[in-house]
Amino acid sequence: MIRLWNWYKQKSFILKITSGFILGVIVGLLFGPAAGVLAPFGTLFLNLLKMIVVPLILLTLIVSVNNSNPKELGRIGGKIFPYYLLTTAIAVLLGIWIAKLIKPGIGLSMPSTDNFEVPDAPSTIEVLMNIVPTNIFQSLANGDILSIVFLALIVGFSISLMRHSKEQGMREKGDLLLNLSEAGSEVTFRILNGVLQYAPIGVLGITANSIGNQGFDTLQSLGKYVLASYAGVAVQMFIVFPLILLIFKVPVLRFFKNVREALFTAFVTCSSLGTLPVTLRTAKKAGISDRVANFTLPVGATVNMNGSAIHFGVGVIFAADIVGYDLTIGTIIAIILTGTLAAVGTAGVPGAGLIGMSIVFTQAGLPIEIVGLTAGVNVITDMVFTTCNVTGDIVGAAVVDQSEKKHQDYQAPVTEIPAKTAAK
Ligand code: ASP
Repeated sequence: MIRLWNWYKQKSFILKITSGFILGVIVGLLFGPAAGVLAPFGTLFLNLLKMIVVPLILLTLIVSVNNSNPKELGRIGGKIFPYYLLTTAIAVLLGIWIAKLIKPGIGLSMPSTDNFEVPDAPSTIEVLMNIVPTNIFQSLANGDILSIVFLALIVGFSISLMRHSKEQGMREKGDLLLNLSEAGSEVTFRILNGVLQYAPIGVLGITANSIGNQGFDTLQSLGKYVLASYAGVAVQMFIVFPLILLIFKVPVLRFFKNVREALFTAFVTCSSLGTLPVTLRTAKKAGISDRVANFTLPVGATVNMNGSAIHFGVGVIFAADIVGYDLTIGTIIAIILTGTLAAVGTAGVPGAGLIGMSIVFTQAGLPIEIVGLTAGVNVITDMVFTTCNVTGDIVGAAVVDQSEKKHQDYQAPVTEIPAKTAAK
Protein backbone atom coordinates (compact mmCIF):
# COMPACT_ATOMS: atom_id res chain seq x y z
CA MET A 1 0.00 0.00 0.00
CA ILE A 2 2.76 2.39 1.00
CA ARG A 3 4.63 1.45 -2.16
CA LEU A 4 1.56 2.16 -4.27
CA TRP A 5 1.17 5.55 -2.57
CA ASN A 6 4.83 6.41 -3.18
CA TRP A 7 4.53 5.35 -6.82
CA TYR A 8 1.40 7.53 -7.19
CA LYS A 9 3.07 10.50 -5.48
CA GLN A 10 6.01 10.37 -7.83
CA LYS A 11 3.92 10.55 -11.00
CA SER A 12 3.59 14.02 -12.49
CA PHE A 13 0.53 16.07 -11.56
CA ILE A 14 -0.35 16.70 -15.18
CA LEU A 15 -0.23 12.99 -16.03
CA LYS A 16 -2.47 12.09 -13.10
CA ILE A 17 -5.02 14.79 -13.77
CA THR A 18 -5.09 13.99 -17.53
CA SER A 19 -5.68 10.32 -16.75
CA GLY A 20 -8.54 11.30 -14.42
CA PHE A 21 -10.09 13.45 -17.15
CA ILE A 22 -9.79 10.82 -19.92
CA LEU A 23 -11.15 8.08 -17.67
CA GLY A 24 -14.03 10.38 -16.75
CA VAL A 25 -14.89 11.00 -20.43
CA ILE A 26 -14.81 7.25 -21.15
CA VAL A 27 -16.97 6.38 -18.13
CA GLY A 28 -19.41 9.21 -18.97
CA LEU A 29 -19.78 8.08 -22.59
CA LEU A 30 -20.12 4.41 -21.66
CA PHE A 31 -22.58 4.72 -18.81
CA GLY A 32 -24.49 7.94 -19.62
CA PRO A 33 -26.49 9.40 -16.73
CA ALA A 34 -25.59 6.36 -14.58
CA ALA A 35 -22.06 7.80 -14.38
CA GLY A 36 -23.66 10.33 -12.01
CA VAL A 37 -22.90 7.92 -9.15
CA LEU A 38 -19.33 9.21 -9.36
CA ALA A 39 -20.46 12.81 -8.85
CA PRO A 40 -19.77 12.82 -5.07
CA PHE A 41 -16.04 12.28 -5.76
CA GLY A 42 -16.09 15.48 -7.79
CA THR A 43 -18.14 17.34 -5.19
CA LEU A 44 -15.65 16.31 -2.52
CA PHE A 45 -12.79 17.75 -4.59
CA LEU A 46 -14.62 21.06 -5.15
CA ASN A 47 -15.49 21.23 -1.43
CA LEU A 48 -11.84 20.73 -0.51
CA LEU A 49 -10.78 23.48 -2.89
CA LYS A 50 -13.43 25.85 -1.60
CA MET A 51 -12.40 25.07 1.98
CA ILE A 52 -8.84 26.12 1.31
CA VAL A 53 -9.48 29.15 -0.87
CA VAL A 54 -10.61 31.66 1.79
CA PRO A 55 -7.63 31.17 4.14
CA LEU A 56 -5.33 30.97 1.13
CA ILE A 57 -6.38 34.34 -0.29
CA LEU A 58 -6.49 36.03 3.10
CA LEU A 59 -3.09 34.82 4.30
CA THR A 60 -1.19 34.98 0.98
CA LEU A 61 -2.32 38.56 0.42
CA ILE A 62 -1.52 39.69 3.98
CA VAL A 63 1.95 38.18 3.68
CA SER A 64 2.59 39.47 0.18
CA VAL A 65 1.51 43.04 1.03
CA ASN A 66 4.20 42.91 3.73
CA ASN A 67 6.85 41.62 1.39
CA SER A 68 6.83 44.74 -0.72
CA ASN A 69 7.38 48.30 0.31
CA PRO A 70 4.33 50.57 -0.06
CA LYS A 71 5.88 52.46 -2.97
CA GLU A 72 6.44 49.26 -4.85
CA LEU A 73 2.88 47.99 -4.17
CA GLY A 74 1.38 51.17 -5.55
CA ARG A 75 3.54 50.77 -8.64
CA ILE A 76 2.52 47.12 -9.20
CA GLY A 77 -1.16 47.98 -8.66
CA GLY A 78 -0.85 50.93 -11.04
CA LYS A 79 0.34 48.56 -13.74
CA ILE A 80 -1.83 45.52 -13.19
CA PHE A 81 -5.24 47.20 -12.90
CA PRO A 82 -5.09 49.08 -16.22
CA TYR A 83 -3.88 45.80 -17.78
CA TYR A 84 -6.92 43.94 -16.37
CA LEU A 85 -9.42 46.54 -17.58
CA LEU A 86 -7.91 46.84 -21.03
CA THR A 87 -7.62 43.11 -21.76
CA THR A 88 -11.12 42.48 -20.38
CA ALA A 89 -12.65 45.16 -22.62
CA ILE A 90 -10.79 43.68 -25.62
CA ALA A 91 -12.16 40.26 -24.69
CA VAL A 92 -15.81 41.45 -24.62
CA LEU A 93 -15.32 43.05 -28.03
CA LEU A 94 -13.69 39.88 -29.32
CA GLY A 95 -16.67 37.79 -28.14
CA ILE A 96 -19.07 40.16 -29.92
CA TRP A 97 -17.04 40.08 -33.13
CA ILE A 98 -16.61 36.29 -33.29
CA ALA A 99 -20.30 35.70 -32.53
CA LYS A 100 -21.24 38.16 -35.29
CA LEU A 101 -19.17 36.06 -37.69
CA ILE A 102 -20.42 32.65 -36.57
CA LYS A 103 -24.01 33.81 -35.85
CA PRO A 104 -24.81 31.10 -33.30
CA GLY A 105 -28.32 32.32 -32.47
CA ILE A 106 -29.72 32.35 -36.01
CA GLY A 107 -32.19 29.49 -36.45
CA LEU A 108 -32.74 28.89 -32.75
CA SER A 109 -36.07 29.49 -31.07
CA MET A 110 -36.75 30.82 -27.57
CA PRO A 111 -36.11 28.32 -24.84
CA SER A 112 -38.73 27.16 -22.45
CA THR A 113 -38.01 28.83 -19.15
CA ASP A 114 -40.27 26.64 -17.05
CA ASN A 115 -37.67 24.98 -14.91
CA PHE A 116 -34.71 27.31 -14.93
CA GLU A 117 -34.30 30.19 -12.57
CA VAL A 118 -31.65 32.76 -13.36
CA PRO A 119 -30.08 34.06 -10.16
CA ASP A 120 -30.92 37.64 -9.19
CA ALA A 121 -28.45 39.97 -10.81
CA PRO A 122 -27.18 42.78 -8.54
CA SER A 123 -26.67 46.18 -10.17
CA THR A 124 -23.14 47.36 -10.98
CA ILE A 125 -23.27 49.88 -8.13
CA GLU A 126 -24.36 47.14 -5.73
CA VAL A 127 -21.46 44.94 -6.85
CA LEU A 128 -19.01 47.77 -6.20
CA MET A 129 -20.53 48.78 -2.82
CA ASN A 130 -20.60 45.20 -1.57
CA ILE A 131 -16.81 45.03 -1.80
CA VAL A 132 -16.66 46.80 1.58
CA PRO A 133 -18.06 44.30 4.07
CA THR A 134 -20.45 45.38 6.80
CA ASN A 135 -19.58 42.27 8.75
CA ILE A 136 -16.21 40.72 8.08
CA PHE A 137 -17.14 37.39 9.66
CA GLN A 138 -20.18 37.11 7.44
CA SER A 139 -18.03 37.83 4.37
CA LEU A 140 -15.53 35.18 5.42
CA ALA A 141 -18.28 32.67 6.12
CA ASN A 142 -20.07 33.40 2.83
CA GLY A 143 -16.82 33.36 0.88
CA ASP A 144 -17.44 36.86 -0.60
CA ILE A 145 -14.13 36.91 -2.40
CA LEU A 146 -14.02 40.60 -3.35
CA SER A 147 -14.68 41.55 0.29
CA ILE A 148 -12.05 39.10 1.49
CA VAL A 149 -9.48 40.60 -0.90
CA PHE A 150 -10.39 44.05 0.43
CA LEU A 151 -10.06 42.84 4.02
CA ALA A 152 -6.71 41.14 3.36
CA LEU A 153 -5.33 44.27 1.73
CA ILE A 154 -6.29 46.61 4.57
CA VAL A 155 -5.11 44.17 7.26
CA GLY A 156 -1.86 43.64 5.35
CA PHE A 157 -1.28 47.38 4.97
CA SER A 158 -2.02 48.01 8.66
CA ILE A 159 0.43 45.31 9.73
CA SER A 160 3.00 46.86 7.41
CA LEU A 161 2.45 50.29 9.01
CA MET A 162 2.91 48.75 12.48
CA ARG A 163 6.13 47.07 11.38
CA HIS A 164 7.50 50.36 10.12
CA SER A 165 6.39 52.32 13.20
CA LYS A 166 8.85 54.43 15.22
CA GLU A 167 7.83 52.71 18.47
CA GLN A 168 9.65 49.51 19.17
CA GLY A 169 6.67 47.90 20.94
CA MET A 170 4.48 48.55 17.93
CA ARG A 171 7.08 47.12 15.57
CA GLU A 172 7.26 43.95 17.68
CA LYS A 173 3.49 43.52 17.56
CA GLY A 174 3.51 44.02 13.80
CA ASP A 175 6.24 41.41 13.39
CA LEU A 176 4.30 38.99 15.59
CA LEU A 177 1.19 39.38 13.45
CA LEU A 178 3.19 38.87 10.28
CA ASN A 179 4.87 35.77 11.71
CA LEU A 180 1.46 34.36 12.60
CA SER A 181 0.16 35.04 9.10
CA GLU A 182 3.24 33.42 7.56
CA ALA A 183 2.84 30.35 9.75
CA GLY A 184 -0.85 30.15 8.85
CA SER A 185 -0.08 30.42 5.16
CA GLU A 186 2.47 27.61 5.51
CA VAL A 187 -0.19 25.34 7.05
CA THR A 188 -2.61 26.20 4.25
CA PHE A 189 -0.06 25.24 1.60
CA ARG A 190 0.60 21.94 3.32
CA ILE A 191 -3.10 21.06 3.41
CA LEU A 192 -3.29 22.06 -0.20
CA ASN A 193 -0.61 19.59 -1.13
CA GLY A 194 -2.87 16.81 0.15
CA VAL A 195 -5.87 18.21 -1.70
CA LEU A 196 -3.92 18.25 -4.97
CA GLN A 197 -2.99 14.60 -4.54
CA TYR A 198 -6.72 13.85 -4.50
CA ALA A 199 -7.41 16.06 -7.56
CA PRO A 200 -7.24 13.33 -10.25
CA ILE A 201 -10.00 11.31 -8.56
CA GLY A 202 -12.09 14.44 -8.16
CA VAL A 203 -11.62 15.28 -11.81
CA LEU A 204 -12.69 11.77 -12.81
CA GLY A 205 -15.91 12.26 -10.81
CA ILE A 206 -16.68 15.70 -12.26
CA THR A 207 -16.01 14.66 -15.86
CA ALA A 208 -17.88 11.34 -15.73
CA ASN A 209 -20.90 13.08 -14.26
CA SER A 210 -21.02 15.99 -16.69
CA ILE A 211 -20.28 13.97 -19.83
CA GLY A 212 -22.74 11.28 -18.69
CA ASN A 213 -25.54 13.76 -18.15
CA GLN A 214 -24.96 16.40 -20.81
CA GLY A 215 -23.76 14.00 -23.46
CA PHE A 216 -23.13 15.41 -26.90
CA ASP A 217 -26.81 15.95 -27.72
CA THR A 218 -26.84 19.40 -26.24
CA LEU A 219 -23.76 20.18 -28.26
CA GLN A 220 -25.73 19.60 -31.43
CA SER A 221 -28.30 22.32 -30.82
CA LEU A 222 -25.88 24.72 -29.22
CA GLY A 223 -22.88 23.64 -31.28
CA LYS A 224 -22.35 26.99 -32.92
CA TYR A 225 -22.57 28.81 -29.61
CA VAL A 226 -19.90 26.51 -28.23
CA LEU A 227 -17.85 26.94 -31.41
CA ALA A 228 -18.04 30.73 -31.15
CA SER A 229 -16.97 30.56 -27.50
CA TYR A 230 -14.01 28.31 -28.32
CA ALA A 231 -13.01 30.48 -31.28
CA GLY A 232 -13.09 33.64 -29.15
CA VAL A 233 -10.95 32.02 -26.50
CA ALA A 234 -8.55 30.71 -29.17
CA VAL A 235 -8.01 34.20 -30.58
CA GLN A 236 -7.41 35.63 -27.09
CA MET A 237 -5.08 32.77 -26.09
CA PHE A 238 -3.12 32.37 -29.31
CA ILE A 239 -3.10 35.89 -30.74
CA VAL A 240 -3.84 38.52 -28.08
CA PHE A 241 -1.81 37.03 -25.20
CA PRO A 242 1.24 36.07 -27.31
CA LEU A 243 1.24 39.60 -28.76
CA ILE A 244 1.22 41.12 -25.26
CA LEU A 245 4.02 38.75 -24.21
CA LEU A 246 6.06 39.63 -27.30
CA ILE A 247 5.65 43.35 -26.66
CA PHE A 248 7.10 42.84 -23.18
CA LYS A 249 9.80 40.49 -24.49
CA VAL A 250 8.60 37.39 -22.64
CA PRO A 251 9.46 34.22 -24.65
CA VAL A 252 6.02 32.94 -25.68
CA LEU A 253 6.56 29.20 -26.14
CA ARG A 254 8.57 28.80 -22.96
CA PHE A 255 5.90 30.75 -21.09
CA PHE A 256 3.10 28.41 -22.21
CA LYS A 257 5.23 25.36 -21.54
CA ASN A 258 5.91 26.48 -17.98
CA VAL A 259 2.33 27.35 -17.12
CA ARG A 260 0.55 24.43 -18.78
CA GLU A 261 -0.29 22.68 -15.50
CA ALA A 262 -2.29 25.69 -14.34
CA LEU A 263 -4.10 25.91 -17.68
CA PHE A 264 -5.01 22.27 -17.56
CA THR A 265 -6.20 22.49 -13.95
CA ALA A 266 -8.35 25.48 -14.90
CA PHE A 267 -9.78 23.54 -17.83
CA VAL A 268 -10.90 20.61 -15.71
CA THR A 269 -11.94 22.40 -12.51
CA CYS A 270 -13.68 25.39 -14.19
CA SER A 271 -12.54 27.52 -11.28
CA SER A 272 -9.82 30.18 -11.38
CA LEU A 273 -9.90 30.40 -7.60
CA GLY A 274 -9.63 26.65 -7.21
CA THR A 275 -6.72 26.71 -9.65
CA LEU A 276 -4.95 29.53 -7.78
CA PRO A 277 -2.56 27.26 -5.86
CA VAL A 278 -1.41 25.62 -9.08
CA THR A 279 -1.26 29.03 -10.79
CA LEU A 280 1.06 30.33 -8.07
CA ARG A 281 3.28 27.31 -8.45
CA THR A 282 3.54 27.53 -12.24
CA ALA A 283 4.22 31.27 -12.08
CA LYS A 284 7.26 30.41 -10.02
CA LYS A 285 8.28 27.89 -12.70
CA ALA A 286 7.85 30.59 -15.34
CA GLY A 287 10.37 32.68 -13.42
CA ILE A 288 7.89 35.31 -12.17
CA SER A 289 9.09 36.76 -8.88
CA ASP A 290 7.12 35.84 -5.76
CA ARG A 291 6.53 39.47 -4.84
CA VAL A 292 4.68 40.10 -8.10
CA ALA A 293 2.99 36.68 -8.33
CA ASN A 294 1.77 36.56 -4.73
CA PHE A 295 0.14 39.95 -5.09
CA THR A 296 -1.21 39.91 -8.64
CA LEU A 297 -2.37 36.29 -8.96
CA PRO A 298 -4.84 36.15 -6.01
CA VAL A 299 -6.23 39.52 -7.11
CA GLY A 300 -6.30 38.37 -10.75
CA ALA A 301 -8.10 35.11 -9.89
CA THR A 302 -10.77 37.30 -8.32
CA VAL A 303 -11.16 40.25 -10.67
CA ASN A 304 -9.46 39.47 -13.98
CA MET A 305 -11.77 37.38 -16.16
CA ASN A 306 -10.91 37.60 -19.85
CA GLY A 307 -12.64 34.32 -20.68
CA SER A 308 -15.83 35.32 -18.85
CA ALA A 309 -15.75 38.59 -20.80
CA ILE A 310 -15.68 36.64 -24.09
CA HIS A 311 -18.59 34.61 -22.67
CA PHE A 312 -20.64 37.81 -22.23
CA GLY A 313 -19.81 39.09 -25.73
CA VAL A 314 -20.75 35.81 -27.41
CA GLY A 315 -23.85 35.44 -25.19
CA VAL A 316 -25.20 38.90 -26.03
CA ILE A 317 -24.98 38.35 -29.80
CA PHE A 318 -26.42 34.86 -29.43
CA ALA A 319 -29.43 36.26 -27.58
CA ALA A 320 -29.79 39.27 -29.87
CA ASP A 321 -29.89 36.93 -32.90
CA ILE A 322 -32.52 34.71 -31.30
CA VAL A 323 -34.89 37.60 -30.58
CA GLY A 324 -33.97 39.52 -33.75
CA TYR A 325 -32.57 42.54 -31.92
CA ASP A 326 -30.26 44.77 -33.95
CA LEU A 327 -27.57 46.18 -31.71
CA THR A 328 -26.53 49.78 -32.31
CA ILE A 329 -22.98 51.04 -31.77
CA GLY A 330 -24.22 52.79 -28.61
CA THR A 331 -25.62 49.53 -27.23
CA ILE A 332 -22.40 47.72 -28.10
CA ILE A 333 -20.32 50.32 -26.23
CA ALA A 334 -22.64 50.00 -23.23
CA ILE A 335 -22.29 46.20 -23.42
CA ILE A 336 -18.48 46.48 -23.43
CA LEU A 337 -18.60 48.67 -20.30
CA THR A 338 -21.10 46.51 -18.43
CA GLY A 339 -19.40 43.35 -19.62
CA THR A 340 -16.05 44.56 -18.28
CA LEU A 341 -17.54 45.41 -14.87
CA ALA A 342 -19.56 42.19 -14.75
CA ALA A 343 -16.38 40.23 -15.51
CA VAL A 344 -14.63 42.01 -12.61
CA GLY A 345 -17.53 41.03 -10.35
CA THR A 346 -17.60 37.40 -11.56
CA ALA A 347 -16.34 35.00 -8.92
CA GLY A 348 -13.71 32.49 -10.00
CA VAL A 349 -15.94 29.49 -9.39
CA PRO A 350 -17.70 27.11 -11.80
CA GLY A 351 -20.74 28.60 -13.46
CA ALA A 352 -20.28 32.09 -11.99
CA GLY A 353 -20.28 33.54 -15.51
CA LEU A 354 -24.02 32.79 -15.75
CA ILE A 355 -24.66 35.40 -13.06
CA GLY A 356 -22.43 37.94 -14.83
CA MET A 357 -24.24 37.19 -18.06
CA SER A 358 -27.61 37.94 -16.47
CA ILE A 359 -26.21 41.30 -15.33
CA VAL A 360 -25.17 42.13 -18.90
CA PHE A 361 -28.46 40.89 -20.35
CA THR A 362 -30.51 42.91 -17.87
CA GLN A 363 -28.63 46.07 -18.75
CA ALA A 364 -28.84 45.41 -22.50
CA GLY A 365 -32.58 44.69 -22.26
CA LEU A 366 -32.22 41.11 -23.54
CA PRO A 367 -34.38 38.26 -22.18
CA ILE A 368 -32.38 36.57 -19.44
CA GLU A 369 -34.24 33.33 -20.19
CA ILE A 370 -31.58 32.79 -22.84
CA VAL A 371 -28.96 32.58 -20.10
CA GLY A 372 -30.87 29.47 -19.05
CA LEU A 373 -30.58 28.04 -22.55
CA THR A 374 -26.81 28.42 -22.54
CA ALA A 375 -26.58 26.99 -19.03
CA GLY A 376 -27.03 23.55 -20.59
CA VAL A 377 -23.65 23.77 -22.29
CA ASN A 378 -21.99 25.89 -19.65
CA VAL A 379 -19.99 22.92 -18.41
CA ILE A 380 -18.34 22.65 -21.81
CA THR A 381 -17.73 26.35 -22.39
CA ASP A 382 -16.74 27.14 -18.79
CA MET A 383 -13.68 24.93 -19.28
CA VAL A 384 -12.15 27.17 -21.93
CA PHE A 385 -13.38 30.42 -20.36
CA THR A 386 -11.69 29.51 -17.09
CA THR A 387 -8.49 28.48 -18.92
CA CYS A 388 -8.50 31.88 -20.61
CA ASN A 389 -9.17 33.62 -17.27
CA VAL A 390 -6.17 31.95 -15.67
CA THR A 391 -3.91 32.56 -18.68
CA GLY A 392 -4.80 36.26 -18.52
CA ASP A 393 -3.79 36.35 -14.86
CA ILE A 394 -0.39 34.78 -15.47
CA VAL A 395 0.29 36.88 -18.58
CA GLY A 396 -0.46 39.97 -16.47
CA ALA A 397 1.90 38.80 -13.75
CA ALA A 398 4.63 38.03 -16.31
CA VAL A 399 4.28 41.43 -17.95
CA VAL A 400 4.37 43.34 -14.66
CA ASP A 401 7.29 41.23 -13.46
CA GLN A 402 9.18 42.01 -16.63
CA SER A 403 8.67 45.74 -16.23
CA GLU A 404 9.48 45.56 -12.49
CA LYS A 405 12.90 44.15 -13.31
CA LYS A 406 13.77 47.49 -14.82
CA HIS A 407 13.36 49.27 -11.49
CA GLN A 408 16.47 49.83 -9.48
CA ASP A 409 14.86 49.12 -6.13
CA TYR A 410 13.73 45.74 -7.37
CA GLN A 411 15.18 43.05 -5.14
CA ALA A 412 15.34 39.31 -5.42
CA PRO A 413 12.10 37.62 -4.31
CA VAL A 414 11.84 37.21 -0.57
CA THR A 415 8.95 34.81 -0.10
CA GLU A 416 8.92 31.28 -1.32
CA ILE A 417 6.02 28.98 -1.89
CA PRO A 418 7.42 25.98 -0.05
CA ALA A 419 8.79 23.51 -2.55
CA LYS A 420 7.27 20.64 -0.60
CA THR A 421 3.79 21.94 -1.17
CA ALA A 422 4.10 21.36 -4.87
CA ALA A 423 2.11 18.29 -5.83
CA LYS A 424 4.16 16.01 -7.96
N1 ASP B 1 -15.68 29.58 -14.02
C1 ASP B 1 -15.02 30.82 -14.29
C2 ASP B 1 -13.78 30.94 -13.45
O1 ASP B 1 -13.68 30.37 -12.39
C3 ASP B 1 -15.89 31.99 -14.04
C4 ASP B 1 -17.03 31.96 -15.00
O2 ASP B 1 -17.95 31.16 -14.81
O3 ASP B 1 -17.02 32.73 -15.97
O4 ASP B 1 -12.85 31.61 -13.82
